[in-house]
Amino acid sequence: MMAEDIPPLAAEIRRRIAATGPMPVSEYMELCLSHPAYGYYMTRDPLGRAGDFITAPEISQMFGELLGLWAAEVWRLMGQPSAVSLIELGPGRGTLMLDALRAAKAVPEFRNALTAHLVETSPALRQRQRETLSSLNATAQWHDQLADVPEAPSIILANEFFDALPVNQVVRQSSGWHERIVDVDARGRLAFGVAAEPLRLFEQTLPLAVRAASLGTIYEWRSDHMVLEMSRRIVHAGGAALVIDYGHTQSADGETLQAVRDHAYSDPLAAPGLADLTAHVDFEALAFSADCIGARTHGPVEQGIFLRRLGIDTRATALKAVAPQAVASQIDLAVDRLTGGGKTGMGTLFKVMGLSDRGLERLPGFDHAS
Ligand code: SAH
Repeated sequence: MMAEDIPPLAAEIRRRIAATGPMPVSEYMELCLSHPAYGYYMTRDPLGRAGDFITAPEISQMFGELLGLWAAEVWRLMGQPSAVSLIELGPGRGTLMLDALRAAKAVPEFRNALTAHLVETSPALRQRQRETLSSLNATAQWHDQLADVPEAPSIILANEFFDALPVNQVVRQSSGWHERIVDVDARGRLAFGVAAEPLRLFEQTLPLAVRAASLGTIYEWRSDHMVLEMSRRIVHAGGAALVIDYGHTQSADGETLQAVRDHAYSDPLAAPGLADLTAHVDFEALAFSADCIGARTHGPVEQGIFLRRLGIDTRATALKAVAPQAVASQIDLAVDRLTGGGKTGMGTLFKVMGLSDRGLERLPGFDHAS
């Protein structure tokens, strides 16, 4: 790559490494996604067919509609509080919230009780969300972080949010577990490395299944502040949350950090700030943190099963009844994509986990009988 082609964030990261030494993978990921000037989400709208990746709400309106009706049912189970916050974390283009609010009109008492709150760090995506919601004349409040949302009975939605939170990586060596770092190599390029000193006693934080890992194994972990804050809120003021993401139901070793640019995988170090960086969500770790703070956890279940229990097939049939043939086959394709397995399907790769206060023993979609 010619010097003038170096992305500005790559130059900034090299400057930082030259000044203070190699950085942990989590710091690199945080800079790539959220650097105020050059972070991937900060300046652009990367979603949709023309962008780098497509998310479930962008595939079909059915996704947000079903979650809106899920929220209405949860509100009923909560005892129909006269004021409830519908909070979305990382709302992207605002499509999920738009579809959820439209569907919520089917339960007018719920629609009247709710205030929409969007937690979003990116100015570009906030603008996009405002435009999306204006088509419904819906009012909403925006916040930089969940801690800024007023404390109230809440229903929290997080779709493809946790996978974008910075992940730490550690590498098993004979001397113990070492932090994986980003450094500059002899040719001046960004390269992964391993910290010289082990993380003292780190092994004690690991799930038993991972402790015996062979040399060179990578293990990923995330800060749990986000799930703790979500859980604390719903335990304190009542309510429930839904975490939808790709990931594993049990903690396991292995590297899942990946970069996507123009719908294709790329080298995570090649173009910092220009590619999306994500890593799988460890649902067992999320459930452990939620449990520690007193929340009830539900699932996880596969997205395909969850959406079927919420009635995606019935919704698709209703939409198709009033749609021209070409649109009807798109609806079928969308159902396949959202619920199916295989390489193109999201139905088995994506998992749904519920969190609630102890008073909510059941949440819709998690109970076989529902
Ligand atoms: N939920 C949307 C978008 C997923 S992309 C959808 O399903 O289409 C991830 C979203 O999280 C983006 O809106 C991004 O700007 C936002 N985001 C990433 N890190 C964040 C953080 N720490 N706090 C709030 N929002 C964040």
